[in-house]
Amino acid sequence: MQAKYNELLTILGKVDDIGRAAGLLGWDQQTYMPPGGVASRASQMATLESMAHELFTAGRVGELLDEVAPWAEAQGYDSLPASAIRVTRREYERYRKLPNKLVAAKAEAVGLAFDAWQKAKHASDFSIFQPRLERLVELSVEEAEALGYQEERYDALVDRFEPGMRTKRLVEIFDRLEKELVPLVRAAGRSAGDDALRGLSFPAQAQQDFARELLIAMGFSFERGRMDVAEHPFTSGFSPSDVRITNHPYEHAMLSNVFSTIHEGGHALYEQGVPTAFDRMPVSGSASMGMHESQSRLWENIIGRSLLFWRHFYPKLQAHFPVQLGTVPLEAFYKTVNRVKPSLIRVEADELTYNLHIILRFNLERELLNGTVRVADLPAIWNERMRAGLGVTPAHDAEGVLQDVHWSDGIFGYFPTYSLGNIYSGQIYNRMREDLPDLEGAVGRGELLGVKAWLNEHVHVHGGKYEPEDLIKKITGEGLTVEPYLEYLKGKYGK
Ligand code: ZN
Repeated sequence: MQAKYNELLTILGKVDDIGRAAGLLGWDQQTYMPPGGVASRASQMATLESMAHELFTAGRVGELLDEVAPWAEAQGYDSLPASAIRVTRREYERYRKLPNKLVAAKAEAVGLAFDAWQKAKHASDFSIFQPRLERLVELSVEEAEALGYQEERYDALVDRFEPGMRTKRLVEIFDRLEKELVPLVRAAGRSAGDDALRGLSFPAQAQQDFARELLIAMGFSFERGRMDVAEHPFTSGFSPSDVRITNHPYEHAMLSNVFSTIHEGGHALYEQGVPTAFDRMPVSGSASMGMHESQSRLWENIIGRSLLFWRHFYPKLQAHFPVQLGTVPLEAFYKTVNRVKPSLIRVEADELTYNLHIILRFNLERELLNGTVRVADLPAIWNERMRAGLGVTPAHDAEGVLQDVHWSDGIFGYFPTYSLGNIYSGQIYNRMREDLPDLEGAVGRGELLGVKAWLNEHVHVHGGKYEPEDLIKKITGEGLTVEPYLEYLKGKYGK
């Protein structure tokens, strides 16, 4: 049976190699590729993706999964073979349920939609994007029907990013979150204070020097990773030994570069922390997108926006920018870093209002798939709900319904994972604090390697072996619950 298991691993290894190679082309496209490379790069990536898809679904993988499963399961649920079979089967079933015709139709529709979205956003004219989005909603409905679901279509799409999660549960979680957040936002907004950095300019090179220092303090390995510049920050891993983050040092948005570096650093530590024994298998990924996001949010918000963190790091930041920050006291800097102010753009939102942006998108996605909201009505509904929920109204669609890339990529069901990441991060931090009695003292001294080691040992070590609900239970002893995150927010902003 070992021989058959090895045969399976050989195929999975090739599928993974091709996928990671396509990923590297994608990384290159967003970092160093000249603009002229767009067309040839698109066909190169499409070829690699279809090769991987063919190899994975050709039939031999299914036969081997069936043959090897009893042998692997006999080694125990937590063993690597049993986990590898379980996770591979989940992926395999998903791929097999999607007809090739639908996959090809979606790829084509996405190609057209992305271009239309860019043009629409540039011209701030939703009508350019509308027919493309209508097509993508139609195909996503077909996709959900092909995949199957128990209660509603949205379940089938969320499951891809957050295995095991159901819409009904998200509704409960988000109702509770919204109810608690709205009064907190109001109270915190009243005492927000001024932006102490307004109008200041921060040279890019010094920003990147500080970003590097932060990553090293967090325990990011430059032996097994890189930091480069991209338009929109992201992290790509090609193995635990080659993990690349990107950021973007705009001269007038120094804080944005600081926090996106910490955020991407959190993602990168997850990727660098997965055991090499999982290499080239589906278990080499993360438990879910929500769990991945819990790592970035824990570092960016709970640690990176804390007063303790800046007691240590603010003097270091000031040393890079003595002219700009020399007369800005720590207290004013800290208040600026945690300023709550309802705004139009999700990616620029503060810790509290961020989740309200997610809830708006979650509701709209569900309604689009259920057919209770029409694409044509999206801009008006979007603006009305922004006004009602956040008290701000977009002046045009580019700062409203057109702001995010996700829908143009045919991705529905992803947005909730951002808020799930916040919620997991509250649970994980609570547990970490129990295990590390001097956690806050260490953060205040800038000693962050204990945090990294704890996350390595309790989160990263499991790679993608478990579904997120099982993993959060393993880490904290409890399933997904919003209370610790709410307590954290109330403790910080409720005063
Ligand atoms: Zn992220």
